[in-house]
Amino acid sequence: MPYPIIPIFDQRLPKVMQSHGQPSNPPTDLLQDLLGRALRELRISVTDRCNFRCRYCMPRETFHTEHAFLGPSQLLSFDEITQLAAALTSLGVEKIRLTGGEPLLRKNLETLIASLGDLRTIHGKPLDLALTTNGSALRHQARALRAAGLRRITVSLDAMDEAVFQRMSDAASSSARQVLQGIDAAVQAGFEQIKVNMVVQRGVNDDQILPMARHFRRMPISLRFIEYMDVGGSLGWHMAHVVPSTEVLECLRNEFELEPLAPQSPSETAQRWRHAQGGGEIGLISSVTQAFCGECTRARLSPEGQLYLCLFAHQGHDLRQLLRSGRNHDEITAAIQAIWSGRADRYSQLRGQDSLTQRLPKVEMHYIGG
Ligand code: SAM
Ligand code: SF4
Ligand code: SF4
Repeated sequence: MPYPIIPIFDQRLPKVMQSHGQPSNPPTDLLQDLLGRALRELRISVTDRCNFRCRYCMPRETFHTEHAFLGPSQLLSFDEITQLAAALTSLGVEKIRLTGGEPLLRKNLETLIASLGDLRTIHGKPLDLALTTNGSALRHQARALRAAGLRRITVSLDAMDEAVFQRMSDAASSSARQVLQGIDAAVQAGFEQIKVNMVVQRGVNDDQILPMARHFRRMPISLRFIEYMDVGGSLGWHMAHVVPSTEVLECLRNEFELEPLAPQSPSETAQRWRHAQGGGEIGLISSVTQAFCGECTRARLSPEGQLYLCLFAHQGHDLRQLLRSGRNHDEITAAIQAIWSGRADRYSQLRGQDSLTQRLPKVEMHYIGG
């Protein structure tokens, strides 16, 4: 992949490890980055491939048939992913979300779900494991995913209207109907939590806000409206294309009576609302207009084992190299500890300023997984 990678053993390992090769056990509960943020959440992207070409993520002009995706030997194996997840949980990670590309394209994903399900947090609790999918294959896979132990799932859907769906997803082989069938299958399979993510783009699908809210209102589902972000390098993003969450809320309140809900945790990214007359929840994710970098406790692992500290980072830290050169759990944990301790990322807070961070090329969304 074209993304720059930091060679960890040249620069990043604590001195004790570079000189003796064997680190002392790192303290677990105290790890913080330079801005005092703990490491609590991990996104794992299991593939950079996708069967959609959403205009806001993988525009076909860039990600065409000649685009070189990662080959099998470049991808982390399930065993390697589990080893890294174990190291990260020993440093405080409590929540893991599987993503992609399209994660359901990765064969036998249930095997990975089952082995991640065996991990424990530093407090001895089971990990909170979730998955984000475009939903195109969910109607066939929902039961097997649930049976493997997955309890929470998020399905991305940007429109009820088929023409608008096609305009957003550029996925002729799929349809809004198929995704809706996938969501129904997830409800049938007994997932404990189902969320639907809708990215709102001005003039493209903002007329779908109310139809989506009407449809999901009567279902046990949290519908979340996400501000369109300037991820990757191929979008031609402009602030004028963003529909601020305040505007989405105003639109919803013209039709529905909504009541605010208290945050469930300090790092919660969505402001939540509920229908006063009962029914599903509404979430507003204001990633652009109200940056939440101050509470960002999330690391991201790419399909080939690069650890990223921000959705807008321009470089990753090569953990696959550590794994494949035979480093043990303690050494890998110490390396990650050193990486997180040096983190100062806060891209969204700096958005619009002419800083170096803003000008460097950014990692692509389909590679890092959102
Ligand atoms: N393919 C899966 C899916 O679409 O759900 C998982 C990967 S996708 C990168 C994860 C999430 O990122 C999706 O909910 C998608 O809508 C969101 N996303 C992608 N590009 C975005 C953008 N430019 N702004 C905001 N959200 C975006
Ligand atoms: Fe694929 Fe998800 Fe990106 Fe759409 S948002 S192109 S479904 S990875
Ligand atoms: Fe976290 Fe980076 Fe997003 Fe800020 S911009 S919330 S640091 S991922």
